[in-house]
Amino acid sequence: MERQEILQLFKNTGALLQGHFLLTSGKHSAQYMQCAQVLQYPDIAGRLGAELARKLSQLQIETVIGPAMGGIIVAHEVARALGVRSIFAERQAGKMALRRGFKLAAGEKVLVVEDVVTTGGSVKEVLDIVREVGAVPVGVGSIVDRSGGQADFDGLPFYSLLQVDIEAYEPENCPLCAQGLPWEKPGSRESK
Ligand code: ZN
Repeated sequence: MERQEILQLFKNTGALLQGHFLLTSGKHSAQYMQCAQVLQYPDIAGRLGAELARKLSQLQIETVIGPAMGGIIVAHEVARALGVRSIFAERQAGKMALRRGFKLAAGEKVLVVEDVVTTGGSVKEVLDIVREVGAVPVGVGSIVDRSGGQADFDGLPFYSLLQVDIEAYEPENCPLCAQGLPWEKPGSRESK
């Protein structure tokens, strides 16, 4: 899949919105991304997962793991394409953990996936879990990379389908406010 095709899927499904947005950080932006919007369609999620799997297939992956919630569907679809197991990690009292009887064996080769990597914090926590139990992380994959090329996972191979840089502005420096355009809060009816 070409980058342009993937970008179009995001726009068509409402996963990437254009406009004037008030972010939870209090900053403003001209774009807003919600990856869950593109993953709500199983056929599209399957295609994206298969594409990520194809890019990472040279790694000898035995199991795919993702952090809840965003990583669950991605892990599932990548694992389906690779024909391997898919599990997820989730927060328990604020700390990422393997629950529900999910286990990794010592030496098991594991791919960590996420929907969107921004700082990569959740992925790093999952990498820690994988290492703690003696399994071997072999790579990281994400649908979207919003780190601006800054994401680094101890030098592990990292591949994403779509690099997106969304500039955020302090309201007083926002060019859209300067044009007098009303903003909206994504996912709510609140606007100005
Ligand atoms: Zn603004």
